[in-house]
Amino acid sequence: MLGAAASLYVWALRDLPRDLREALAGALERETSVTGIRVLETIHRNVEVADTERNLVCQDTGIAVYYCRVGERFPLHPAGIERALKAGTERATVEHPLRSNTVHTLTRESTGANVGYRVPIVHWEFVPGWDGLDVKCVPKGSGSENMSFLKMLVPADGVNGIKRFVLESIVEAGGKPCPPGIVGIGIGGSADYALHLAKEAIARPIGTRNPDPLVAQLEDELYGLLNETGIGPMGLGGDVTVLQCHIEHADTHMTLNPVAVNYQCWAARRTSAHIGADGAVDYDRDF
Ligand code: SF4
Repeated sequence: MLGAAASLYVWALRDLPRDLREALAGALERETSVTGIRVLETIHRNVEVADTERNLVCQDTGIAVYYCRVGERFPLHPAGIERALKAGTERATVEHPLRSNTVHTLTRESTGANVGYRVPIVHWEFVPGWDGLDVKCVPKGSGSENMSFLKMLVPADGVNGIKRFVLESIVEAGGKPCPPGIVGIGIGGSADYALHLAKEAIARPIGTRNPDPLVAQLEDELYGLLNETGIGPMGLGGDVTVLQCHIEHADTHMTLNPVAVNYQCWAARRTSAHIGADGAVDYDRDF
């Protein structure tokens, strides 16, 4: 388990998922601005160099975020899984070695090898009757994480209010989150849950659509609108501002209408593995 966590983290930092590579290739085909094309070509060259030299895609190794889907009959308790994820992140950082980013939030002193109090960040989902474990690793760079937004709209703001806030947020972000990337949107629930959902949305395979047809329609609409802003690759102008727009939602209180935006940069790193009850690890699995 510890070894799997270490591998997932380093793998995520070195090797972009296939769906992201395809989305970046599609972006280069669609882009018409000369500057935008040049930026996208540089991104492609960056990925090529990382592949050939087996090096990191970006120097920012991010803050390690894990999503665990645990079967209730999986033999290792979640406390043990969390311990292994922390130890694996630390081992990967020391052995590779990787840049360590974690600091105490007040003193700003380093707290160790990409670990600290409540870091890495681990999210849980429990699956009744199952004996397996799915782990997804999403190292989150600060440039894009700093471009996170929350607004407690009122119900009267409706869907138009949601669209307006998303557009305003992405225009405000401009080139800071290293576009073109994935815009994750969380709607409904509570303030904290909307932000959680927005982060979950950026970690989905690119271009997947929400199973709720109304939400999927909003994803399509916002994807189109966001690409009409003209922000373009790295904010230098162009047709491709976002690679995708994903939305996760939850039902909410009748007087609430929270909306959260989380940006994921072009280096949308994501790896996953399935771990069986016998300890066998399958690194090809995605969720
Ligand atoms: S936002 Fe992404 S691409 Fe930009 S520096 Fe951070 S990790 Fe790298």
